[in-house]
Amino acid sequence: MKNQKADYEVGMVGLGVMGRNLVLNMASHGFSVAGYNRHPDKVEALRQEAKGLNVCGADSIEELVGLLRKPRAVMLLVTAGPSVDSVIDDLLPHLEKGDLIIDAGNSYFKDTNRRAEKLAKTGINFLGVGVSGGEEGARLGPSIMPGGPQEAYERVRPVFEAVAAHVNGEPCVEWLGHGSAGHFVKMVHNGIEYAVMQLIAETYDLMKRGLGLTNDEVHDAFSDWNSGELNSYLLEITSHIFAKQDEKTGKRLIDEILGVARQKGTGMWTSESAMQLQVPTPTIDLAVAMRDMSVLTSEREEASRLLLRPIRHFTGDRKDLLVELRGALYSAIIITYAQGMALLAAASVKYEYHLDLEIVARIWRGGCIIRASLLEDIRAAFLLKHDLTNLLLDPNLSQKVMAQQENLRKVVGQACASGIPAPGLMVSLAYLDGFRSAWSPANLIQAQRDYFGAHTYERIDVKGTFHTEWED
Ligand code: NDP
Repeated sequence: MKNQKADYEVGMVGLGVMGRNLVLNMASHGFSVAGYNRHPDKVEALRQEAKGLNVCGADSIEELVGLLRKPRAVMLLVTAGPSVDSVIDDLLPHLEKGDLIIDAGNSYFKDTNRRAEKLAKTGINFLGVGVSGGEEGARLGPSIMPGGPQEAYERVRPVFEAVAAHVNGEPCVEWLGHGSAGHFVKMVHNGIEYAVMQLIAETYDLMKRGLGLTNDEVHDAFSDWNSGELNSYLLEITSHIFAKQDEKTGKRLIDEILGVARQKGTGMWTSESAMQLQVPTPTIDLAVAMRDMSVLTSEREEASRLLLRPIRHFTGDRKDLLVELRGALYSAIIITYAQGMALLAAASVKYEYHLDLEIVARIWRGGCIIRASLLEDIRAAFLLKHDLTNLLLDPNLSQKVMAQQENLRKVVGQACASGIPAPGLMVSLAYLDGFRSAWSPANLIQAQRDYFGAHTYERIDVKGTFHTEWED
């Protein structure tokens, strides 16, 4: 339905998977929205799909801007990277001081800082907003992670609160902090997502090649686990995947899918940022590395013949082994969240986001890909201790991890013996053991550094820096 006046509350540039669904979501909640897309077929498709809603398709950026109520709010859901700059450049000649641009794509946080700085000079407000939930989330209620000037957020708060997912009556959106806070939090969300997906994939491998389970049995196991403390969106869809038939062959679709997982960059950015901030996030780093390894198909083919060593099946009672696997996965997932939250804590200080991690945990409980019952515990941990530096120092979560650590050790041991790669579970255990060890063999590294490079070292008995002439 075409609103005749230039009175639409929100404009959307980019009517792809996310943009189109978010427009329909906003309009379903009573907001008037105008949408524009570079290729006109998507504008026409929106017009058809939004019949009966207060949505208007625009044929040019100029027309889109002309349809909006002042001060205007224009949201961008275009491919991250140079496309965002190009759309901003196209918008600028038509916008006025006080208007607002919202970049809701998966932009790299440093790009968001650069854009915010540039736009501040023109008097245009800018918000960098992470949105998670995929197609369904965008349409029915995503988790929204806004960052930028708080006054600018207040203008769109009613829209965001209406369209976001809700958990126990609370919207999965809240202003997170200045600058690129929203996009940084979304990036770490995706890093955690990479790691949890890797851990689940390894667990599947151990079930399939270690225990010899059928797809039906794998389905049953994940489905059962999802009803307990492991309850999460990712486990839920995983159990569904194992029941899905391939229309073409009539077999299970999972067995027809090539084991090659590419990436769009958010996992890699998380690892890079963690390295820059010197925060260990090995499970996330490993998840990125294993996607890269999955792409090396011809080398893996060749190596499978050259480096031959048949897989050895797990030994022991299958029921017991499944209980161990479940505990191992649960503890590794907690350890993964601990790494992600520690990264956010460090970034908050370094980049002056002043993040409230209780809020982050709260808005991740619904709508987003990493939503999980565990986030209630994580939220409670930050409620108890606002400046908690690591979730493994929380009494409740540390107890949960330690209750399962023997299972994690058994599973990692079995994986080593069988020859099935489980590097995500392994590094999670190594992170736990490294973190809970008051003594570190880094004394030797310091001695070596001082030996070959006179880098000096500190002593345990007296303050100061010391150097030794190591050779007589
Ligand atoms: P799609 O590929 O479905 O859509 C991309 C959109 O960007 C299209 O409308 C495309 O227009 C537009 N676009 C690309 N380049 C330009 C350009 N140079 N100028 C103008 N428009 C351009 O992507 P999604 O909707 O999935 O993703 C949009 C953003 O949301 C991305 O940043 C993505 O990372 C993020 N995101 C995606 C999620 C998902 O599950 N899909 C989840 C969360 C975030 P055209 O049709 O004309 O090519």
